[in-house]
Amino acid sequence: MRVPRTWRLPWARMVVQTVVGEDLLMFYNMHDTVFAGPRVGTTYDMSEACRRCGAGARQTSAMVVDGEYLHILEGRRVAATCYNDILVDEAMARTLAESGATGFSFRSVFAAFEKRGHFQLPWRQLCATHILPPMSPRTTGLEPYKPCPCGRSSFTTRPEIPTRIVYRASDVVDIRDVNVTWEWLGHVDFNGDVSDSVLPYPAFLITPKVWGIFRDAGVTGFDWFPIRVVDE
Ligand SMILES: [Zn+2]
Repeated sequence: MRVPRTWRLPWARMVVQTVVGEDLLMFYNMHDTVFAGPRVGTTYDMSEACRRCGAGARQTSAMVVDGEYLHILEGRRVAATCYNDILVDEAMARTLAESGATGFSFRSVFAAFEKRGHFQLPWRQLCATHILPPMSPRTTGLEPYKPCPCGRSSFTTRPEIPTRIVYRASDVVDIRDVNVTWEWLGHVDFNGDVSDSVLPYPAFLITPKVWGIFRDAGVTGFDWFPIRVVDE
């Protein structure tokens, strides 16, 4: 998984090796996701979001997942919603909280059933508290499929171009163990009404410390990308 970094200045090497330590990894889950989010009753503050695409929506409620999708949580410790929200079971939430890892908080998770209302689940949503600066323009294979004037949404990978995610060394100096990207990925169909929209979503970027916690718990089902850090 290790990716060579390129360096021009010796001090940058020192700063990054001291503060970041190792390669960073980003993940998102493209398979077996739980239907959840704006169309299931989760609420968002849109006051600072882009009016055209919805990027920057800020969640204001517990995560609500569709009760029809609970079978996807069975036998798992970590799962993702269709918007790449990360759900962890309560034991995993405790492990993360006690690990000393930084940059996250938890929200409750509810299942919504038509006619039967909402039930709280023994799961927690892992929420990142730190938004990274935009990626380096040296990033390749990750581009907006429907560019918005805000420049922030609809990023998607392209099969014909290898995905190479690059950050400037100065932008990851104060990184936390859990972060989200400034760029928002995925399909966009925002019509102004959040409860009837498909919003884009940021990707998670985590350090090897959190990756190791997931690995030790036998978590599978995620795609991991090594992050290249360059001095520029
Ligand atoms: Zn936008």
